[in-house]
Amino acid sequence: MATLFETETAERFGTDPLATFQHNIAEVQARIARAAAASGRNATSIRLLPITKTVPAEILRHAWQAGLRSFGENKIQEAMSKQEALQDLAIDWCVVGHLQTNKAKYLARFAQEFHALDSLKLAALLNSRLELEDRTLDVYVQVNTSNEDSKFGLSPDDLPEFADMLALFPRLRPRGLMTLALFSTDMAKVRPCFARLRRLRDTAIKHNAALTELSMGMSGDFEEAIMEGADVVRVGQAIFGRRPTPDSDYWPGFAGSL
Ligand SMILES: *Cc1c(COP(=O)(O)O)cnc(C)c1O
Repeated sequence: MATLFETETAERFGTDPLATFQHNIAEVQARIARAAAASGRNATSIRLLPITKTVPAEILRHAWQAGLRSFGENKIQEAMSKQEALQDLAIDWCVVGHLQTNKAKYLARFAQEFHALDSLKLAALLNSRLELEDRTLDVYVQVNTSNEDSKFGLSPDDLPEFADMLALFPRLRPRGLMTLALFSTDMAKVRPCFARLRRLRDTAIKHNAALTELSMGMSGDFEEAIMEGADVVRVGQAIFGRRPTPDSDYWPGFAGSL
């Protein structure tokens, strides 16, 4: 008899998770290629960052077999326990969600990328922790492009000064800007958030020349993000299937589900 764990994983990932992931990754890559072609961009310049939250560590071994080498997680505890369980595999761990300052020390130990830098206090803490660990961290500055109070991220008005200040933290390697668009299936509302991030990047880059990339777009909207210039798309459910947890677990203040 199958255990409950086996039944649940089969429901979500299929009886052959490797085949499921290979198929889904190919679909996502085809969607990326189409969106790139439609906007006159080169698909090879667009990086797919798989978001693996809620996918159990042992299932992620199949994702690794399917060729994925960087995994994005939204919660630090979950990321740490998976990193520990999968130490035998060469994986780049990326943290994509808001980080409380008291968790900076954990992030500094194992993450390669952080896509939610949104305060000077956090930048300073990460820098000193990275110094202790003798490590560096690639960072994307999260900006609030939807004017929603509940969302994390720097206010666009604060971005130029923040970009200037990044030079004070030698252990942080600025890569670009990140945003969560307005939570909606209405692309007429979502796409302007992406366009806003692109314009903000064009300004921020004058304050810190390393802030070149745009991390934007998820399973439901990455084509729009690519058309507005996304360099990194963060895709979870289109690869790993629907999450059992509601989206409000990840975006506090947001009550619904797509
Ligand atoms: C979960 C998450 C994603 C991916 O969302 P999907 O709908 O699974 O594609 C992207 N970015 C962040 C910050 C996330 O937490």
